[in-house]
Amino acid sequence: MSRLIIVSNRVQPPTGEGAGNQGGLAVALSAALRESSGIWFGWSGETTEQFTGHINLQRNFGVTTATIDLEAQDVDEYYNGYANRTLWPLFHYRIDLAEFESGFAEGYERVNARFAETLEPLIEADDLVWVHDYHLFPLGQRLRERGIGNRIGFFLHIPWPPHGLLLSLPNHRELVETLFAYDVVGFQTQTWLQSFFDYVTQEMGGSVEEDGRVTVGDRSILALACPIGIDTQNFVEASQSAPARYTCYRMKQSANGRDMIIGVDRLDYSKGLEERFLGYERFLSANEGHHGEVFLLQIAPPSRGDVQSYQEIRASLDSLSGRINGAFADVEWVPIRYVNRGYPRDRLAGIYRAARVGLVTPLRDGMNLVAKEYVAAQDPEDPGVLILSRFAGAVEQLGDAVLINPYSAEDISDAIKMALSMPLEERIARWRSLMDNIEAEDVMWWRRRFTDALELVPQPTE
Ligand code: ADP
Repeated sequence: MSRLIIVSNRVQPPTGEGAGNQGGLAVALSAALRESSGIWFGWSGETTEQFTGHINLQRNFGVTTATIDLEAQDVDEYYNGYANRTLWPLFHYRIDLAEFESGFAEGYERVNARFAETLEPLIEADDLVWVHDYHLFPLGQRLRERGIGNRIGFFLHIPWPPHGLLLSLPNHRELVETLFAYDVVGFQTQTWLQSFFDYVTQEMGGSVEEDGRVTVGDRSILALACPIGIDTQNFVEASQSAPARYTCYRMKQSANGRDMIIGVDRLDYSKGLEERFLGYERFLSANEGHHGEVFLLQIAPPSRGDVQSYQEIRASLDSLSGRINGAFADVEWVPIRYVNRGYPRDRLAGIYRAARVGLVTPLRDGMNLVAKEYVAAQDPEDPGVLILSRFAGAVEQLGDAVLINPYSAEDISDAIKMALSMPLEERIARWRSLMDNIEAEDVMWWRRRFTDALELVPQPTE
């Protein structure tokens, strides 16, 4: 087995606080790094006055991490700028929020060059290099320019936009061309993969073969759909742990016989939170009989607070939740509990388990792991109902959820009503079908599927 080098914007070293407290991605990648004695390379999250290229090497719980500090201007232009104000909105179909600033693009190029420059000396002859996500599209090309001939893969965690939308990005073609420096490129779903094929065939005169080989000029890469999963076994165990059981018990006590609907999302405009609140408001307006019988717990820890569109969504949700509670609450009942903080994973699992309905309604999402976690945390004998947006990547695997159009308040309202009255037999049948997929295609499966494809690429010397 070749040594694996993982590169991502931020590095998540294992914390050793108990497996239940680590995200599935960190668990899977850490396991792969341990097996291959690999390295996880990325930004430390710290800033420095002047970029030096100094690498901070650390070993935690069997995993070696290599991190670099960036300048404040790098963070502004590359991370808050090009990654989160240009690419993120555009790739989530929010062209209205995308900002096109040449300074952002320059910062993005500069940081990718800095990543390449510092990473290069760490790469040995037979290493597999696996680059993650939209922060680092050009990294493979920068490494090739430095003479790295190793097998390099790229996985995109967010959606790939439709061809017509991508044309609005200045220098879109250069960005897509950088993908041809990789050997294997992975997308979360068939839909995003197809959008990539559309761009390559219509814009670059490329060709696509049935096995996913994509050729432009003299360069050929393998493109595949490789949906990420959760660490299912671990999450099921977390949901049965003592802290989870206690949290579940406390939630049920505080629900006081009412049905709980749960939403858990980073506070991000792609998650459809305003539309969700409006859908729930419509449900309350249309179903007076349910007043006092149900409540929505929305957990939404703030993210990317330096970016204005994130400040705006936060203000808008504060006002919307206040308005809905003001209109419907009475002395003994508050229809929305809106909480802006994070919880340890085992407690989150207990909260999911206490909820009759999981409401996952992103307007666009690369995958959406919360949907999978909600299902994995359920009691098999009395599972809750997952309501899922048709525009989440997870829908390709979780078609037996109650599917909705997140833009339609009526759809959300009808789905809530249906979920609350769904007979036990149907709940179990749907849950079993969802769980079969979540068990089979977990995060270890995802990691192997990608690294197996990369290992099959012939070495340049072979
Ligand atoms: P995204 O990666 O866009 O944030 P996902 O749904 O794919 O969306 O993944 C979100 C992850 O963050 C999940 O693993 C979820 O459990 C975790 N998470 C979200 N909100 C919280 C919270 N309040 N406390 C703890 N973990 C959270």
